[in-house]
Amino acid sequence: MSADGTPSDWALDRAHVLHPWTNFGPFEAEGSLVIERGEGCWLWDAEGRRYFDAVGGMWCTNLGLGRADLADAIADQVRTLAFSNSFVDMANPPSARLAAKLAALAPGDLNRVHFTTCGSTAVDTAWRMARYYHAARGEPGRTHVIARENSYHGSTYIGQSIGKRDGDRVPEFLYRTEGIHHVTCPHLRTAPDGMAEAAFTDWLVAEFEAKIEEVGAERIAAFFAEPIQASGGVIVPPKDYLRRMAEVCRRNGILFVADEVVTAFGRIGHWFASEAEFGVVPDIITCAKGLTSGYLPLGAVIFSDRIWQAMAEGGARWFTSGFTYSGHPVACRAALEVIGIMEREEILAHVEEVGAVFEEACFGLAEMPTVGEVRGRRLMICIDNVADKATGRTFPDEVNIGKRVSDACEADGLLVRPIGHMNVMSPPLVMTSDDALRVADTLGRALRRVADELVRD
Ligand code: PMP
Repeated sequence: MSADGTPSDWALDRAHVLHPWTNFGPFEAEGSLVIERGEGCWLWDAEGRRYFDAVGGMWCTNLGLGRADLADAIADQVRTLAFSNSFVDMANPPSARLAAKLAALAPGDLNRVHFTTCGSTAVDTAWRMARYYHAARGEPGRTHVIARENSYHGSTYIGQSIGKRDGDRVPEFLYRTEGIHHVTCPHLRTAPDGMAEAAFTDWLVAEFEAKIEEVGAERIAAFFAEPIQASGGVIVPPKDYLRRMAEVCRRNGILFVADEVVTAFGRIGHWFASEAEFGVVPDIITCAKGLTSGYLPLGAVIFSDRIWQAMAEGGARWFTSGFTYSGHPVACRAALEVIGIMEREEILAHVEEVGAVFEEACFGLAEMPTVGEVRGRRLMICIDNVADKATGRTFPDEVNIGKRVSDACEADGLLVRPIGHMNVMSPPLVMTSDDALRVADTLGRALRRVADELVRD
């Protein structure tokens, strides 16, 4: 209750909002942390407490919050043209210019763009597009897709079906399994028989080929892969893995869809990670999040001229998919401004520099008694907490280790994200090297406090 007797935002939220991925028990007991204001990498809650946001919103507030240049561009676009639809033959300047800019930044002949509302609708659209492409080329039987275990591809029906994250408690009625197959997550630490990197890569490629053989290449439309599996725990694949999986796709006429919702727009120092980091030119890239630095919702499917031509020349000559807010002029203007700022302020070079500092400081936390593994690249890092370092045994669910660590950080003014037994960080790209060291230091102290508590418990 506020001083004037009106209910607080915390109370209103608790009474009325169903949050995404809510865990009803703790929500009913504790409600939410209401964030009122943000500036740069910092957030303030309703009580005026300040937090460093090492979650980066949720892999998205890449340029930090409260930027006047972004606010001005968005306000100007609202005054000029707040909305115009993009259906059939309608267009607006920000969406046309953004599509051209994305085509210039994307690898290979990925020169075509379909705008969506977020990452999930981009993945959903990529799935439809793959089906359209094959049907248009006279292969309507290519209806299946292959993805990886422990991946996350969004929360629409198809996105949720393609993804398959360890520990998610998604009830079966919320996704389909028909025509969707999963192969092993390329996490070296979990390789069978403790295989080394090269042998594990061979094993993963052979497993993929065997799966294609089993399903039948002529029935498979696409392979979906996050270059680095983000919310599955920041799984960086073996060096040659993605390139070799892409070769297998090419040989079998299967489209390679790189889900770059997290990895695009600088998170690991590149506009797009697929080619720059892993040597793969995908057929389709899905992206969102950092595209507008989280200032407005927007997603995009960036796809090859070859796919465009096939869809345009074959079949019904209609692409019957899209959203009222596809190509929203204000969201597209925000994205253009974000890309402009990234170029002017040389953010990719900054990520190389600050990312190296962050990696080193976080990898140092592997020494802590409850840390089994620290994974990641540049500004996406995961701390994997274990009860036993030698065997990798995880804590029982009731210890709630990820939440316990994030609560300990929160008490010290730092937000990190708990995902099951892990803690994940994706700070704004604009953080400084001093920020990076302070985040690792605060997290280290929190890990130490939690480890001490667990020994005492
Ligand atoms: N793909 C990946 C790799 C993601 O990490 C996410 C969201 N975390 C999505 C898709 C879905 O994006 P959105 O939440 O914007 O729908």
